[in-house]
Amino acid sequence: MKQQDSSPLTSPHKRSTAEEMQQLISRLYPICRSITGNGVRESLRILQEYIPLQIQEVASGTAVFDWRVPPEWNIRDAYIKDHKGNRIVDFRKHNLHILSYSIPIKGSFRLEELIPHLYTLPEQPDLIPYRTSYYQENWGFCLPHRLLESMRDDRYEVCIDSSLKDGFLSYGELLLAGTSEEEVLISTHICHPSLCNDNLSGLAVCTFLAHYLSLRPHRYSYRFLFVPGTIGAITWLAINEDQLSRIRHGLVASLLGDEGDFTYKRSRRRQAEIDRVVPFVLSELEKAHKVIDFVPYGYDERQYCSPGLNLPVGCLTRSTYGTFAAYHTSADNLDFVKATQLEESLQVYQAVVDTLDQNRYYLNLNPKCEPQLGRRGLYALIGGQNDSKQFELAILWVLNLSDGQHSLLDIAEQSQMNFSLLVAAAKALVKGELLTEIQDVD
Ligand code: ZN
Repeated sequence: MKQQDSSPLTSPHKRSTAEEMQQLISRLYPICRSITGNGVRESLRILQEYIPLQIQEVASGTAVFDWRVPPEWNIRDAYIKDHKGNRIVDFRKHNLHILSYSIPIKGSFRLEELIPHLYTLPEQPDLIPYRTSYYQENWGFCLPHRLLESMRDDRYEVCIDSSLKDGFLSYGELLLAGTSEEEVLISTHICHPSLCNDNLSGLAVCTFLAHYLSLRPHRYSYRFLFVPGTIGAITWLAINEDQLSRIRHGLVASLLGDEGDFTYKRSRRRQAEIDRVVPFVLSELEKAHKVIDFVPYGYDERQYCSPGLNLPVGCLTRSTYGTFAAYHTSADNLDFVKATQLEESLQVYQAVVDTLDQNRYYLNLNPKCEPQLGRRGLYALIGGQNDSKQFELAILWVLNLSDGQHSLLDIAEQSQMNFSLLVAAAKALVKGELLTEIQDVD
């Protein structure tokens, strides 16, 4: 794999993170991705300029639970020409024009023969819909309804220069090892073509979250997956089934650049630690949000939370699938995704991983009456300052509830105190030998 001399993240021309994320999305936007094929590889190679992602290839036909890895699909060109030879629908102008996984076809068709293969949105007549036919052999074009209405009863020349052959399913994987082998799984889907919120926003946030984590020490090992939706997650789970017990927490990341409020969808377990941490972080950061219960529909949490695996994996988005007008249309473009929203989403994800990483159980080593804190320098010598009062209060809460039954998150929820202040208090108490971390709590 070709290595770049300098990654875009270490470029001397310093851009803001929000600008860097938008720039990444702009580079990925024109690429025609699907569940397999060169568009996925090309996208993963671009991500490798930012993070040391490994590209994994799984052969077509490989059995993965109840599925098989499909043939690899690639496309070079596709069009519908009118009788004058004008390309009235042109894949080269917009890759949403092609029904993803269309078989190759070449011929002349009357309009009525063509119509069963044309997909439009009558309610949004200027937009191109996004449609796929992965597991049923078909071909088709997606176009604005207004264009369809303007097509006369005539003959049209149709060409789809695609191939469906034995090849590979490609996905990206990155493990950032922590001090523990216990893992946090962050998964995002990479199979959509030119759609920005769904899901270049997820790719950008995950890439920059991985970069953020790579710059600091962490307890958990963080595993990032950039997988084609459904079949990619199923493939990864099938290949790695014997290692799934390492996953302690997980999130599916997508739809992170629109202007909607945050939405957290709980894991199937409903009360896993991740199901408490995400709403806690969203509340602490004062982000407008809603929390919804697990349903067996949506993104790849469907696979991670299937009953035989039941992993503690939730899904954190802004808007949810199907709830915004641009969803799965050409309006989900570069203008739809906003830099400020991407940056805000990244900050929320950073706070979530920081909270997961720092949420521990401690044991008070001096539980009978309060220890004498002043003697240990843990009580401010000059009282009255608000900051030190808060810190002292945090110390008292951590001491009182560190009985082996309460994590720092429990203490934060009960005390209504800032989580990072409680973390600082716990660290000071460990240093003062009044507290010790409990390693194995289940
Ligand atoms: Zn989608």
